[in-house]
Amino acid sequence: PAACVGQRQLPQASVAAVQAVLDKGDTGPRALPVPAPSSFRQLRRLLSGELAAEQVLTELKASNLRGLGGAGFPSWRKWETVRAQAGPRHMVVNIDEGEVGTFKDWQVLTRAEGGASQMLEGLLIATQVVGIEHAWIYLRDEYHDLRELLTHELAGLQDTLAALREQHPGYTPPRIELRRGAGAYICGEESALIESVEGKRGLPRLKPPIVAMHGVFGRPTLAHNPETLWWLPRILEKGGAWLAGEGVRGRTGLRRFSVSGRVNKPGVHLAPAGITLRELVDEYAGGMQEGHTLYAYLPGGASGGILPASLADVPLDFDTLVDHGSFIGSMAVVVMSQHDTARGAALNLMQFFEHESCGQCTPCRAGTTKAVQLMQAPVWDAPLLGELSQVMRDASICGLGQAAPNPVDSVLRFFPHEVNGQGGAA
Ligand code: SF4
Repeated sequence: PAACVGQRQLPQASVAAVQAVLDKGDTGPRALPVPAPSSFRQLRRLLSGELAAEQVLTELKASNLRGLGGAGFPSWRKWETVRAQAGPRHMVVNIDEGEVGTFKDWQVLTRAEGGASQMLEGLLIATQVVGIEHAWIYLRDEYHDLRELLTHELAGLQDTLAALREQHPGYTPPRIELRRGAGAYICGEESALIESVEGKRGLPRLKPPIVAMHGVFGRPTLAHNPETLWWLPRILEKGGAWLAGEGVRGRTGLRRFSVSGRVNKPGVHLAPAGITLRELVDEYAGGMQEGHTLYAYLPGGASGGILPASLADVPLDFDTLVDHGSFIGSMAVVVMSQHDTARGAALNLMQFFEHESCGQCTPCRAGTTKAVQLMQAPVWDAPLLGELSQVMRDASICGLGQAAPNPVDSVLRFFPHEVNGQGGAA
């Protein structure tokens, strides 16, 4: 395989790993341990009247299920907002999964119990309760195996739906379409995703209006992450209180952390909301690699900032990192050691944002380019970088430009010795 991605050289070990996968020949879903399909039992209960739509909402509220794509918005509130709008209503499922270090959606759909089929059951329950006519599943195109799997599942779903229509003559299932993305990070932003679904260039929209009121083709739209939908049948089976009781330190629910970096067992780890980084590394990720001690970590991919080892005992969940200028987003945890530098990581991330900026607004388009130039200097101009961060945060249209300065601000705040050109662990 080509040894480069864009202009960046991959380490030889990565090239060898890619070659090993290609040498296996068959990398499609047939090679995957595809999970057993869902029984659609909870959907059947809903259609038969054993479970009322209001009960579904009650359980959803009790579970405190929050959007697992990054924003953490309470799911039930989103449902109620879309449900209150006049029809026709639409839905998009965001499997663009482009956040740096995030791979949990791929894992839940291809490896977790129920997998993609359970996500589809969740989708059908949501469309039934909210009254949705048309759903688009937007898939990251690099997930070739998942595309094959979803195509297979959607074909099989037609038989299930035909049988359900026979048993429940009043049931009108939604039209479901699979849409392939084209590799743009920005299309993970829900309004850009909607533009892309409509066949246009993926440019984020100005908000308000929010997509729950004005989404695909101007209609009220329920936007969900696939893992959020995957949880739904499980919540209805076990009760909302069950999921709410799974967190620690006052937090609710379970979280799939995509853990990478200097740990012995990188991968997706399902852990209680509110776990600390130290616990996640020691109890789930097999501890730090030999010769590495914890220096810093990214709690939420590219956008969530960089935290020092001294904050390894802070509970990880939505809202818990706000005081540290950080957030967990889609829970992509990258663990760094004394062999890494926070400024090196921040520069890498800013270059990523510069490359992925859609270019629509000046604070982000010009700001990311200017920030990269300033960050390449041996000694950072901290006041100027701080000012630039503020402008980007205040004036960018969407979350990309607003969050792009987070890693820079983290370095200025937590790693001042690095600003002056010194290496990692001082
Ligand atoms: Fe595009 Fe960046 Fe503006 Fe978002 S903030 S609309 S990505 S230029």
